Amino acid sequence: MALVVLLLGVGLVQAAILQVNIEPKEVRQGDLMLLQVEGVEGVSLIDGRFGERPLQFFPLPGGGFGALVGIDFEEPPGSRSFAIEVVDPFGRRAEVRGEVEVKGLEFPIQRLTVPKAMAEPDQETLRRIEREIETLKALWAMTTPGRHWQEPFLFPVDGGAEPLGFGVRRIINGEERSRHSGVDIAAPSGTQVFASNAGRVALVGEYFFPGRFVILDHGLGLYTMYFHLQAIMVEEGQLVHKGQPIGTVGATGRATGPHLHFAARFNGSRVDPISLLKLSPSREPPASPAP
Ligand SMILES: [Zn+2]
Repeated sequence: MALVVLLLGVGLVQAAILQVNIEPKEVRQGDLMLLQVEGVEGVSLIDGRFGERPLQFFPLPGGGFGALVGIDFEEPPGSRSFAIEVVDPFGRRAEVRGEVEVKGLEFPIQRLTVPKAMAEPDQETLRRIEREIETLKALWAMTTPGRHWQEPFLFPVDGGAEPLGFGVRRIINGEERSRHSGVDIAAPSGTQVFASNAGRVALVGEYFFPGRFVILDHGLGLYTMYFHLQAIMVEEGQLVHKGQPIGTVGATGRATGPHLHFAARFNGSRVDPISLLKLSPSREPPASPAP
């Protein structure tokens, strides 16, 4: 990653130590990134862009500011530029610019056989699916201000199997279908499913493909999804805490056996939920720089 610090004001003390750390160190298609800006104590304004996207900063527990960026798994690989500007209480500005290289991934192909009614829905069912997709699209377009969570996200099933299948291209009954935008975690029916982090229950329901599902809104455009549930234990609008049981594993909707489909969206980008679990926003404060 190339990083350039530009000093636009005169005598802005913080500019000398303004630093951007990016997690993960190597960014790939489908990653959720955390940009952490350090050396900004006492600044009165922080603003930035990642490519065309505005960054929404929040204070980090260890000091400094963080902003999330989602790289949709179908975004082309390549270089992205970012710019972050800070302003101190005297109106003096400093700017950091840099580039992030997004690596391409080889997503495997998975062949599945499901009952004909699931692979080739009738006209009425197609209309239902269309309505369900529209409802979800409207949800992804909503960004609630404020952040419900402070701590890292947790794996939503105790003792669940290895999460599989993020981004795979699926050939269902011989036809190429939409790519798989979450991970599948195999677990016995009835296994408890936990909220990966604190949030508000944005939507519960029973849709054709997802089956019974819960979607949590964690604020600032970040959502997690829990599909194919047997039981749902929360209601829309309810606030949940990290680790709270929200339902149980099942095989409702288009599922070939009991498992949890766990997925994440950030500002509409389909990101690997496992990259969300790896983020550590509560890192230790940076060491004080030498005078
Ligand atoms: Zn799935």
